[in-house]
Amino acid sequence: MAVPRNKVTRSRRNNRRSHDALVPGNPAECANCGELKRPHHVCSACGHYDDREVVALADEIDLDEDDAA
Ligand SMILES: [Zn+2]
Repeated sequence: MAVPRNKVTRSRRNNRRSHDALVPGNPAECANCGELKRPHHVCSACGHYDDREVVALADEIDLDEDDAA
């Protein structure tokens, strides 16, 4: 097992950790439904991207189409 050659001081340890902070996301409002969504991603609430629907929602799909058989 590798063994550290020198003690890492509190100062040096904390300086290393100065870049570890998590940054908050940058949510943007969906142009269709106004829900907050990740920028450059399909809206998870309505499935729209760039003012058009690209992903159909599950509750909008009729799963029991009896006339198909
Ligand atoms: Zn939306």
